Amino acid sequence: MTMNWRKPALPAVDALDSLFDGLFRPMGAEGVYARTGRYEAVVEALQALISRQREEGTEVFRFPPVMSRHQIETHGYLKSFPNLLGCVSCLEGGEAEIRGAVDRHYAGGDWTESLAAADLVLTPAACYPVYPIAAARGAVPARGYRFDVACDCFRREPSRDLDRLQSFRMREYVRVGTPEQIQDFRQRWLETAKGLADRLGLAYEVAQASDPFFGRVGQLMALNQLEQALKFELLVPLRGDGPATACMSFNYHREHFGTTWNLRDASGAPAHTGCVAFGIDRLAVALFATHGLEVAEWPQAVRETLAL
Ligand code: ATP
Ligand code: ZN
Ligand code: MG
Repeated sequence: MTMNWRKPALPAVDALDSLFDGLFRPMGAEGVYARTGRYEAVVEALQALISRQREEGTEVFRFPPVMSRHQIETHGYLKSFPNLLGCVSCLEGGEAEIRGAVDRHYAGGDWTESLAAADLVLTPAACYPVYPIAAARGAVPARGYRFDVACDCFRREPSRDLDRLQSFRMREYVRVGTPEQIQDFRQRWLETAKGLADRLGLAYEVAQASDPFFGRVGQLMALNQLEQALKFELLVPLRGDGPATACMSFNYHREHFGTTWNLRDASGAPAHTGCVAFGIDRLAVALFATHGLEVAEWPQAVRETLAL
């Protein structure tokens, strides 16, 4: 069996590569890594730090790494990011059919030809499952909703870079309500996030951003997103002067999810939604890249912020 999680033919190492052995172990696929205790201690500390920022009246949900395929289709994900989606597929059918596929494998053939798409996909972002849950309650109350959600997310973007994984943790605060409530939430969170990055000793820049929508139509969607200032990112430089890495994003979806899920206020107008997403693995990698592999040697103030 070949171990091609890092292709030796590729040229020199990335600036983050020296961190790999301290933080991860290979699992035979790019961007899918076992995490060491040293790394997980920082991940847990980050999660706790974010929990301490939870606003009053926030409901907590933790989602499994898979979700309904029907729901992700309804979200319009196939229009925006079909290239990133992973779909669960299984050997369905009777014993004879399944046995046939397995026998083919042991005879040197391809068992995967018999796979059929299941009714599940790998969850690509932590907030998707929360909108149908909110919509099922009927009209959105005047105070709106606040959610704290988290999920192991999958995106099909294999890479050798430690800050671009296929399987990674995302934590989000989500707001459902009026346009004013969402703008207010996002503005407050932009400030809170900068304060957190300061306390974590991370260099950063906040910039407007667009999502990498798929294909040529996608380029128009991205322009529209920029024009309406729907997305901001907190970017941390991890490679000297190279492009900085988005460690958090601040998103205003307007009435997109409100219309999609029939999530409406008492007057029948579609609710607006927004979310602030924390790339937990990216934040952890950023901390190690900035302060080094020895947590005991990190600046005192950073360790106090993380209670480490
Ligand atoms: P990028 O522009 O770097 O691809 P994104 O715009 O796709 O990021 P979002 O969709 O806003 O990212 O996801 C929320 C957060 O999840 C990001 O800010 C980032 O911290 C994290 N994230 C996204 N993709 C990955 C990945 N492949 N590996 C690790 N973390 C990721
Ligand atoms: Zn979100
Ligand atoms: Mg991306």
